[in-house]
Amino acid sequence: MAKCSECSFYQEIDDTKGDCFGHEVQADRDTSECPTNAFKPKEGE
Ligand code: SF4
Repeated sequence: MAKCSECSFYQEIDDTKGDCFGHEVQADRDTSECPTNAFKPKEGE
């Protein structure tokens, strides 16, 4: 299963977390837990 760190909306803050639409999410959060079901794979992955 893909992780938030693989999502195009994920902006890395550090190795463990990133920003998603102004909210902090864990890099290893499972995208199946995405609250808005907005997971979009990064380009080229
Ligand atoms: S949009 Fe969903 S899958 Fe993508 S980083 Fe945010 S919470 Fe994770």
